[in-house]
Amino acid sequence: MEQITVTSPLLPSLDEFNEMLKQIWESKWITNNGQFHRRLEAALAEYLKVPYISLFTNGTLPLITALQALRITGEVITTPYSFVATTHSLWWNGIKPVFVDIDPANCGIDPNKIEAAITPKTTAIMPVHCYGKPCDTKAIQEIADKYGLRVIYDAAHAFGVEVNGESILNAGDMSTLSFHATKVYNTIEGGALVMHDEQTKKRIDYLKNFGFANETTVVAPGINSKMDEIRAAYGILNLRQVDAAIAARQEVAKKYREALRDVEGITFFDDMPGVKHNYSYFPIFVDATKFGQSRDELYFRMKEANVLGRRYFYPLISDFSTYRGLPSATRENLPEAYKLADTVLCLPMHHELTDNDIERILAFFNK
Ligand SMILES: *Cc1c(COP(=O)(O)O)cnc(C)c1O
Repeated sequence: MEQITVTSPLLPSLDEFNEMLKQIWESKWITNNGQFHRRLEAALAEYLKVPYISLFTNGTLPLITALQALRITGEVITTPYSFVATTHSLWWNGIKPVFVDIDPANCGIDPNKIEAAITPKTTAIMPVHCYGKPCDTKAIQEIADKYGLRVIYDAAHAFGVEVNGESILNAGDMSTLSFHATKVYNTIEGGALVMHDEQTKKRIDYLKNFGFANETTVVAPGINSKMDEIRAAYGILNLRQVDAAIAARQEVAKKYREALRDVEGITFFDDMPGVKHNYSYFPIFVDATKFGQSRDELYFRMKEANVLGRRYFYPLISDFSTYRGLPSATRENLPEAYKLADTVLCLPMHHELTDNDIERILAFFNK
C-alpha cells in the first residue's frame, strides 16, 4: 500500500515559479533585500495582520536573534512540550532554560505555574502556541508586566492564527514563525520575526545582516540569516494558495473528529471559540486502558501498514541529554507535559489527503 505521510509540502506551480526565476536571473539580484524579499515581507504583513515582519532563512534564527535584540540573559521560563529549537535558541545565547509545566487544555505553558519559577535571574518568558493553539497571552502578559519580563512567542505553528479577529502574532514583545517544508506555509526553509514598531524592525534587519546599518557601520554582532530571492519568490506564490490549503486541512479535521468522537480512549481538540485555526496538526491522545492499545502500539501498527503518524512532542525537550540535568527538567516538575508526551500521536495532516487516505487512517480506530 502506498505510503501516507504525516505532512506534505505546499508547492507552487512550476510554470509560475519558472516565470519568477526568469525575472530573478534577468535582474541578477539573488539575495540581500531584493524586490522579492521586500514584496514577500509586505504581502505577509498584510496577510498576517501584523505591523512589521522580517524574513529569515529558517525558524530557529529568529528565536536566537530576538533574544539577542532584546538583550535577554540569565534565565528564561519556557515549555518542555515543543520542538527542540525553542530551548536550543536559549542555549545558543548562554541562557539557562527553566521548564514550566503545560496546561493540557491548549498544550501551552501553564500561566498558573510561571510565578513559582521566577528568580532574580529571570528576564523573559518564551511560550509556544503549540499546534497553533493560542496560549493564554493575557495571563502571560500580566505576569510579565508584574515582574518586568519580556515575552518572546515561538509561533512556528501559528501561521495565520487569530483570536477575535486579531493576529496571535501581535502578542508579547516579538513572535517568530517557521516556514519549513513541514509547516502549513513554507518557503522550503525559511522563517520570520514579527515586531510592533519600525525601530525594532530596523534593528532586526541589521542583526540578520551581520549588524550592518550601512556600508561602513556595524551596530551589533549580527548574524547572517537573510532570506534569498529564490525562496522569497517561492513564498509569494505559496501565499496565494495557503488559504485553500488551510481549508483542505479543515475538512480533514472535520472528518477525523466525526469518526473519532465516539471512540473510547481517544481524545482530541475541538476548535476554540473565537479562534481562527490553521489546522497545522491533528494530535490525538491515547488512553491505553480504554482504547485497548498503547500510543506506541498504535503508532507502530500504523507504521507497519505504511501510515505515518508522528509522536510530536515525544520525548520532551527536557528529556534530551543536553537539558536532562537541569533542576526544572524532572518528571515531578512536569507531570502534564509527560502525560501528553507519553500519549500523543499526530495523525497525518496536510492539504493532499484523499478520502481514501482518511479511510485507511481511520480504519485503525474501528472496533
Ligand atoms: C519548526 C519549529 C521550529 C524551527 O523552525 P525551523 O524553520 O525548522 O528552524 C521552532 N519551533 C517550533 C515549535 C517548530 O515547530
